[in-house]
Amino acid sequence: MIIGSHVQMKSPKYLEGAVEEALSYDANALMLYTGAPQNTRRVDIDKMHIAQAHALLKEHGIPFDRMIVHAPYIINPANSVKKEVGELAVSFLEQEAIRTKALGAKYMVLHPGSYTTSTLEQGLQTTIDHLNATHIPEGIVICLETMAGKGSEVGYQLEHLAYILAHLNQKDSYGVCMDTCHMHDAGYDMSHFDDVLDEFDRLVGLDKLHVIHLNDSKNVQGARKDRHENIGKGYLGFETLHAIAHHPRVAHVPKILETPYIDGKAPYKEEIQLLRQQ
Ligand code: FE
Ligand code: FE
Ligand code: ZN
Repeated sequence: MIIGSHVQMKSPKYLEGAVEEALSYDANALMLYTGAPQNTRRVDIDKMHIAQAHALLKEHGIPFDRMIVHAPYIINPANSVKKEVGELAVSFLEQEAIRTKALGAKYMVLHPGSYTTSTLEQGLQTTIDHLNATHIPEGIVICLETMAGKGSEVGYQLEHLAYILAHLNQKDSYGVCMDTCHMHDAGYDMSHFDDVLDEFDRLVGLDKLHVIHLNDSKNVQGARKDRHENIGKGYLGFETLHAIAHHPRVAHVPKILETPYIDGKAPYKEEIQLLRQQ
């Protein structure tokens, strides 16, 4: 099973520290932000201990593409209302993609964004336009995340992602990240995962699925809230999440936990252990 969690990348060891944190959870995959998700301040790439991180991954037989980057929330390609937000989405996404490549990673998860005061249709078109204005370096794949449908988010129906993907020029540079909490909150019945995968394959293509965010949800199916819960403690439940983690059709796809800390402590070592059990 390819499984890991969100980890921190922070001073002084940055990427090396992120890999060490993942290894401390017995993970064989990880996801990180290149800096604070809510701002554009980033430390120089040569301070990030990249060579040391790569040596550690090699030592543990973990391929570099299991190190996944999450783009910051300030990137909102669906926003057509504020011109400067759209411009920042293009320029910062490009910089983050270059950083992702420098880290030796391949996949970068991106929220398609929120249309704020325009319409869903306008949001989808604006996302397409902004992504088509962005140059993604060779070898990097941007994975659009399935969203919960909170507020004015786009991308909470698989049809939205299929529509965006169909209209992108650099098609090979894009894929999808499926978040189980978000899909459940958007109304999908994740307890019938084979049906969800059939629908995904029909609309998007299963070959486009590169990352799964494995989270439970604090809310009922269709609530459109986006509040993650610990594995087995929410409305998806352990049985459903365990079945997804072990599902043969997505065995090759890294599962990343983004469940909340418990009493200030990361729950990932225990949750990974629980999910690995047969
Ligand atoms: Fe996300
Ligand atoms: Fe997620
Ligand atoms: Zn979420």
